[in-house]
Amino acid sequence: MSLGLVLVALPCILAAALGFATYAPYGSEAAIGIALGAAAVVAMGEALILAARPRLLEPVFGGLDRIYGVHKWLGISALILMILHDLVEPEFGRRVRETGMGEIAGDAGELVFNALIALVAISWFRRLPFTGLEIPYQLWRFSHRFMGVLFAVVVFHQFFVDVPAGVDPSLSVLLNVFGLVGLVAWVHTQFLAPRLRRRDFTVSAIGRHGDTTAVTLRPKGRAMRWRPGQFVFFSAPEAGLSEPHPFTISNAPRPDGALTLSIKGLGGWTRRLPGALREGMSVQVEGPYGRFDFRRGGTRQIWLAGGIGITPFLAWAESLAETERRDIHLVYCVRTPEEAIGLETLQAAAARNPGFSFELVATAWDGRLTADRLIASARFPIGEADLWFCGPTGLKDAILKGLAALGQTPRRVRFEHFEFA
Ligand SMILES: Cc1cc2nc3c(=O)[nH]c(=O)nc-3n(C[C@H](O)[C@H](O)[C@H](O)COP(=O)(O)OP(=O)(O)OC[C@H]3O[C@@H](n4cnc5c(N)ncnc54)[C@H](O)[C@@H]3O)c2cc1C
Repeated sequence: MSLGLVLVALPCILAAALGFATYAPYGSEAAIGIALGAAAVVAMGEALILAARPRLLEPVFGGLDRIYGVHKWLGISALILMILHDLVEPEFGRRVRETGMGEIAGDAGELVFNALIALVAISWFRRLPFTGLEIPYQLWRFSHRFMGVLFAVVVFHQFFVDVPAGVDPSLSVLLNVFGLVGLVAWVHTQFLAPRLRRRDFTVSAIGRHGDTTAVTLRPKGRAMRWRPGQFVFFSAPEAGLSEPHPFTISNAPRPDGALTLSIKGLGGWTRRLPGALREGMSVQVEGPYGRFDFRRGGTRQIWLAGGIGITPFLAWAESLAETERRDIHLVYCVRTPEEAIGLETLQAAAARNPGFSFELVATAWDGRLTADRLIASARFPIGEADLWFCGPTGLKDAILKGLAALGQTPRRVRFEHFEFA
């Protein structure tokens, strides 16, 4: 279990235990109901904290994509706990000190409960199982923004709801802390981060290669520092593309701080980009994020890229120094050879560094990449190497299954998803 999971699980368990212990004198139903509700409040608060993209927590969770994964499961857990809390409905009978505010808080809890079920369900089932139907990302994101408002009502509910007189305030303190921090995190995500975190860049070059656009950006102020393999959120309000989208920086850090994003037209935003963006335009970049870094791997490495998943490997290849002592073999899968981008960068890296080699697999001509073929192309046993992967999940799963069947499971497998869980 990762440290990140322990970090989010402990406060939930603590809240549940404190809730149970505090309300045990009022009967097991009341104690269980409060324990469930308390854990739900903490889980929701934590989900909002993680949604703020805390860069400090990236090493603890293993990258922003993992943070989003935990965020999603916290949201789902909070919903289940809330449903159970509602089912048990803690009752304190006449021992409660009734206030007008308490009644409003109780009603608010009921109201927000239904709205939360709808919002979490939309978030959870973004893709409708077995149908191929998908809620458009923009709509999904728009609905997701209201989570903070609903959480504010949850915090109000737990703060003002009628409880028996004289109960130990420790649980209340814990819930108020998570409530407050969660709300601050939400305000930060929605209103402050867009202003504080984004840096201004100028578009200095735009290149086209099939359906991929290479956008080179120069910093307007201080250059950003990043490690090869990291990604940024990119937006271009002047071009009518103000929604930030994640893209890997496809070049190694340069002294002038210029960075290139290689963007494949896959949906509405990315297809509009090449027609809307102009050289000299002001654009914005937030980041860098991510922990996809081959330097954390061993001395023998297989890099496997599918389609646009080549971008982190281009940055890595460009960053390879002549003194690099690792044995690295890159296999780059595309449909046709014309689709391949950055071949000059890969050729230059191979010429500069004898330990680096690469192979292009054009599936329309050569057929699908198989585990046998991968084993045959590498200069060293894959069972003794680390595998770094970026591309379609189907390719990764098929290769790993094939390698396992041949007794060549890599020592370690690291991958970057081009989609947040
Ligand atoms: C860490 C990471 C690195 C990436 N690097 C690259 C890269 O180097 N080159 C490249 O071409 N693509 C990259 N992508 C994928 C790229 O972000 C999506 O293709 C793009 O956002 C699709 O947007 P769209 O509106 O055109 O397509 P849509 O069809 O609307 O979206 C397709 C899918 O992309 C995701 N997506 C859409 N908008 C956003 C958003 N604002 N924030 C997060 N995800 C979103 C959603 O999962 C959505 O279902 C990367 C993605 C991630 C997560």
